[in-house]
Amino acid sequence: GPIVSFRGVSKTYPNGTVALTDATFDIRRGSIHAICGENGAGKSTLMKILFGLESPSAGQVLIDGAAVDTATPDFAGKHGIGMVHQHFSLVPILTVTENIILGHEPRRAIFIDRNKAHRQVVELTQRFDLAVDPDARTDTLSVAAQQKVEILKALSRDTRLLILDEPTAVLSPPEIEELFNRLRDLCAAGMTILFISHKLHEVRALAETVTVLRAGKVVGTTPLAEVDDTT
Ligand code: ADP
Ligand code: ADP
Repeated sequence: GPIVSFRGVSKTYPNGTVALTDATFDIRRGSIHAICGENGAGKSTLMKILFGLESPSAGQVLIDGAAVDTATPDFAGKHGIGMVHQHFSLVPILTVTENIILGHEPRRAIFIDRNKAHRQVVELTQRFDLAVDPDARTDTLSVAAQQKVEILKALSRDTRLLILDEPTAVLSPPEIEELFNRLRDLCAAGMTILFISHKLHEVRALAETVTVLRAGKVVGTTPLAEVDDTT
């Protein structure tokens, strides 16, 4: 069955804004699934619900077929859900290794075993083919390299569902192509990828399935034939 199902999920914010209305769709395990829609369509709200940052006002989220309460502590970590935010959250004066290892528990900074942390990060960069210097301070890196660090951070906890929010916004065309190739590799290795974008041509180039949102409603969830031809 699907890794994630939304069943009639609605979200009304405390100020009365209706951001999502009766959203129902499935995300197939091991697929690259896109959520596409204009600004204000409800993409971020949907993603925040799935990452446990907002709770639905109505409806259910199912993971592996079981209804879950997304508003529980460390919901995303427990379910292997990683997220690459549109605006990066790296600590500039810290190294790549420090950012990745401490990303989830910054207060443990002084307790980490530096050699072990370094080995873990080297292993991550090799496993996911995301080359970046583990010892570089993140504020010395290009934006594309910083995004690699964000992706490594999101993948560092037995992640099986990787959410990327508008990840191409900060990249040049060759960097976008490289990112898409890495995401295809991840998918081939069994990862499920949720790609949030308002650019339909990028969705067509990358995703197998797209859920289109308009004004908080799911217009439809459709396979993208172009991608099926090449896989
Ligand atoms: P998108 O990511 O597609 O741009 P959002 O989920 O951010 O869409 O927004 C959907 C709607 O909900 C918009 O009208 C937005 O202004 C509103 N909205 C988003 N977050 C909040 C919030 N925290 N409080 C009130 N309204 C919000
Ligand atoms: P995005 O590019 O993710 O759609 P926005 O610039 O629309 O981001 O919103 C930035 C942040 O403000 C998001 O966390 C969003 O949920 C929140 N937000 C958007 N609209 C509103 C609103 N009307 N009231 C409160 N928060 C909002």
